[in-house]
Amino acid sequence: MLPLILDEANKAGIEFNMYSTGKKEVRTKCPFCKADANRSEKFYLSLNATKNAFKCWFCQEGGGVIKFIALLQGTSEDEVKKQIFKGQERPKPKAHPAERLKKEQLQEIGLTPPKYQKDYLSYRRELDHTYKRWQEHQHQEKRDAYSLFYGLETKQAKIDMVREYAKRASLNSEEVMAEFVEAMFAHQKPSWAVDGEGLAYFFNHIDPQEFLEMAIGYLQEISNHYKEIEQEKKLMENYYKKLLERQYKKIS
Ligand SMILES: [Zn+2]
Repeated sequence: MLPLILDEANKAGIEFNMYSTGKKEVRTKCPFCKADANRSEKFYLSLNATKNAFKCWFCQEGGGVIKFIALLQGTSEDEVKKQIFKGQERPKPKAHPAERLKKEQLQEIGLTPPKYQKDYLSYRRELDHTYKRWQEHQHQEKRDAYSLFYGLETKQAKIDMVREYAKRASLNSEEVMAEFVEAMFAHQKPSWAVDGEGLAYFFNHIDPQEFLEMAIGYLQEISNHYKEIEQEKKLMENYYKKLLERQYKKIS
């Protein structure tokens, strides 16, 4: 059996237009002409799962799945046919960045490796979700580390802190140090630096007692919120129960 075109596009890390998923033709970014690369709303490549074929509405590149794989690999169609029909190993296409995350990294964000599903779109969505979570996590870690770096008093304390963070994040500590120093004096700061400085300012200026009270108040608010949701859920349940009873009476 021939490989499936959507599967191949997914394995190659091509970006899907999520609004087109489940439709007859799935739209993706075109990896051949890249005419839609910097235009977030444009997806020029059309993938037809039924016909197992592709077509780009911009560069007109198109054909079946064999040609698709050949173009992606930069080889000939004959070469791809050989790989498929003689059961030869095919060169691995570029994997999704979420597939490259290590088990320990995923553990850090409380996730397990995305399980491959035949339904490539669900799989793809899970990969995107996983990677987004990982990026958010990295942003937070960096923000917190920079916030300490920014707020710590002595030079030695700053150096120790950067080393610790770099080790935890498997980064080069000298590069991190250079990046942090640059961010400190930058006119246009990256968002982790803006957030980190805000955090440092907050912790340097707030009275511990005041902070504790604020945190308790915040937790109280969250717990009240959940109580409200619980109550609402019960109301809805009662409502549906009554509705069902009434319907049932009508029938019987
Ligand atoms: Zn194209």
